[in-house]
Amino acid sequence: MQTSSSPSDPTGPPASRTVSAGPTKDAGTITMATPIVRLDEPDELPAGPIDVLIVGGGPAGCAAALAALRERPGASVVIADAAAFPRDKTCGDGIAPHGLDVLRDLGVTDAVAGYRPVDRLRLRTPGGAEVATPSARASYVVPRQVFDARLMAAARARGANLIRRRVRTLELSDRPRPGGRGREPVVVVNGALTARVVIGADGANSVVRRALGLAVNPPEAMAIAVRAYADLPADDQPSEQFIHMTDEGWPAYAWSFPIGDGRANIGYGMLRSQLGTGSDGASAKTVLHRTLDRMLPRTPADPATLRAHHLPLSTHRPRQPPGPVLLAGDAASLINPLTGEGIYYALLSGSLAGRGGGGGAPPPPPGRQYRRSLDGELGRHLRHTTLLAGLVGRSRTMMDGAVRAARTRTELYDTLVEIGLGRGTIPASTLTRLAVRRTMAGLR
Ligand SMILES: Cc1cc2nc3c(=O)[nH]c(=O)nc-3n(C[C@H](O)[C@H](O)[C@H](O)COP(=O)(O)OP(=O)(O)OC[C@H]3O[C@@H](n4cnc5c(N)ncnc54)[C@H](O)[C@@H]3O)c2cc1C
Repeated sequence: MQTSSSPSDPTGPPASRTVSAGPTKDAGTITMATPIVRLDEPDELPAGPIDVLIVGGGPAGCAAALAALRERPGASVVIADAAAFPRDKTCGDGIAPHGLDVLRDLGVTDAVAGYRPVDRLRLRTPGGAEVATPSARASYVVPRQVFDARLMAAARARGANLIRRRVRTLELSDRPRPGGRGREPVVVVNGALTARVVIGADGANSVVRRALGLAVNPPEAMAIAVRAYADLPADDQPSEQFIHMTDEGWPAYAWSFPIGDGRANIGYGMLRSQLGTGSDGASAKTVLHRTLDRMLPRTPADPATLRAHHLPLSTHRPRQPPGPVLLAGDAASLINPLTGEGIYYALLSGSLAGRGGGGGAPPPPPGRQYRRSLDGELGRHLRHTTLLAGLVGRSRTMMDGAVRAARTRTELYDTLVEIGLGRGTIPASTLTRLAVRRTMAGLR
């Protein structure tokens, strides 16, 4: 398996198009030499009452802090994270341009600075269909140890306090209102920290979500993926993201995303419900590692970097309760079921949650307000990706057909990319056809 196109590339480059590289256009500057932001010791807890307590300092948590403080600059915003930053996060490190739009709106323009834009995505299906068209807008591959530390530095620069704390419990209570006018409802975290609003941005195994009594995703709506870093062969330094789908445990795929420093982030993921032990009794973990090796033989994984993690897919989202505890990012199961992309949705939902949480006192209750704004931004997209995931999961050939057609139809390719990485929706003409197909297949 090669990770780049060959000269006899069957897909061939389509007509040239202008690629928007986002904030960093210099493809020559390099990557891992770019220092990871070193974060000082965690902050002290602020003296007064906490307005917004954010559990988890990944993209969702940092976006929430940035939005809350932009909305209300004097607010007391605390991010509690169990890990010491900078920290690794098991991820493909692919940053879609849509996420950078959210960050730009939040005033962060340097999250991918120094990394080269990757403006091609190569998709290969199990049936042998392949497309590699320049994307309308470039993505970036930035190790999360760097990306998340930059977001955290931006949130702290705006006034958020980072504390190192593993959150274990949440309770609803009340406290005297500032100014002595009656009492206001608060959330008590770990029996010690009280805040008017809590934002659960604590990822795939969210404690906040469980404290709300909301179940984790079932195995058919939970993916699992293993990721590693690998040296790229010197003669094969592609400037494209490569996704190779396989029908072993369909829907499943391996990826290779070049960082730009001679290494790639590689990985393999599938639905939890499809992962079992090997026919030779090998553990599920060994099955994942072996499949990755087999699918990307030219880029053996650095074993020290092999790590697996769950991806809660948006096909099973919890209903956001109306009250003062909000869920964002993976904690709210906002991962695209077709691609496994979650950073953009974490940034967008975090920023909406922060806006609701940092504003004036309710009514409307923060949870209800946030639920409405999230539905307004993503509702249609999420319904369409759920429909597509159901159909694609049952029919591999549908993916073959779509990828084949996208080779010659740039507008179809762009639509697929928007649906897979952003907030794209199915065009009306296709939607009717797919809805009929779903009914015929007896899907709900
Ligand atoms: C293998 C793999 C590959 C992926 N590849 C991509 C990709 O290429 N592109 C993409 O867009 N998405 C990808 N995703 C999805 C993406 O990683 C997530 O959607 C994204 O990280 C979600 O951000 P978040 O802020 O919600 O959560 P996270 O990034 O998981 O951050 C959660 C934070 O909460 C902290 N935390 C957890 N529990 C507690 C607690 N109890 N108390 C305090 N702190 C706590 C953690 O330390 C962490 O810092 C991938 C996921 C996996 C597993």
